[in-house]
Amino acid sequence: MIPLNDLTRSTAALRDGLRAASNRVLDSGWFVLGPENEALESELVAYVGAGHVVTVGNGTDALAIAMLTLGLGVGSRVLTAANAGGYASSAARSIGAVPCYAEVDAETLLLSAATLEESVGRTGRVEAVVVTHLFGATADMAAIITWARRRGIPVIEDCAQALGARRDGRAAGAWGDIAVTSFYPTKNLGALGDGGAVLTSDADLARRARQLRQYGWESKYAVGLPGGRNSRMDELQAAFLRLKLPHLDAWNEGRRRIHAAYRAANPALAFVNTESEAFVAHLAVLQVPERDTFRAELRAADVATDVHYPIPDHRQSTYPDADLDLPVTQRAAETVVSIPLFPELTDTEVDRICGALAALDQGARRATA
Ligand SMILES: *Cc1c(COP(=O)(O)O)cnc(C)c1O
Repeated sequence: MIPLNDLTRSTAALRDGLRAASNRVLDSGWFVLGPENEALESELVAYVGAGHVVTVGNGTDALAIAMLTLGLGVGSRVLTAANAGGYASSAARSIGAVPCYAEVDAETLLLSAATLEESVGRTGRVEAVVVTHLFGATADMAAIITWARRRGIPVIEDCAQALGARRDGRAAGAWGDIAVTSFYPTKNLGALGDGGAVLTSDADLARRARQLRQYGWESKYAVGLPGGRNSRMDELQAAFLRLKLPHLDAWNEGRRRIHAAYRAANPALAFVNTESEAFVAHLAVLQVPERDTFRAELRAADVATDVHYPIPDHRQSTYPDADLDLPVTQRAAETVVSIPLFPELTDTEVDRICGALAALDQGARRATA
């Protein structure tokens, strides 16, 4: 079976470097939030072009901390998409805030200025919007920022699936008032454990994020901000990420090449994204009306599939909102399917996947139903 992802391959290719990084940290005797984290923060500042980077424990904490830095708290309403895995909803709820949802664009499955505008009559006043660059595709940030400025709503960008993407000459993560990312192992830039970061060009927001990740301390043992927590990244993870960051562009290019091969293999299939520098091919997602049949046919060809994501946030059993109807979001949850996509797929495997796609009923699986 060709797996959806296989982390042993990238780890094996970098084995010597990972061991050296690990030895460096072991010998330093400094294990949490130290020189490796500081160096990684500077390297990410240079890579993304955001003014400040603050490493944290994971991507969900990064979202919660970003919300807190903007002054959100109990009862604050946060506008986001309901098709993006629920991370922003989870982060909002963790600080007592209330997520509310905008519809996504039918073609890109991303938030757009138009879908956000359409939601405001329904949601009432919101204190922030979280825009997720889903599946590795950068949303139209220029238009979204213009919309948000006009309405006076701060924008949080979630780049966990899109680090390295650029749109209109600017990196994902350098658009919003504040941005977040995750270094969960399967992300395009993944650690060997948990990690995350907050990115911003606002020095004051960066200072607040820095305090909030460590108990709200403004100096040791002196709490300067409410809402602080412990969300520090390990030195080991920072050292591993520093080894990997210089490879990210080449890995993203490899992902894009494989995605292009899939699309060429069967042009009738409705892939959600097409090739551009705004897309770093985190996942290869297509929409198929008969998903179970599609998955069974690929399984028969020894190709793994998965669904990102099967349950919209407003239909989760813990926080149901039966009154909210988001037809595009709900339809996407029923039709999206992901096929294997990671840079270490071999040419033979890519050919086999392409063969399986080409052998599907021509056109029958197109999402026109
Ligand atoms: C993975 C992910 C997160 C959460 O990151 P964790 O490190 O797992 O907490 C947030 N947003 C998006 C878009 C993600 O893909």
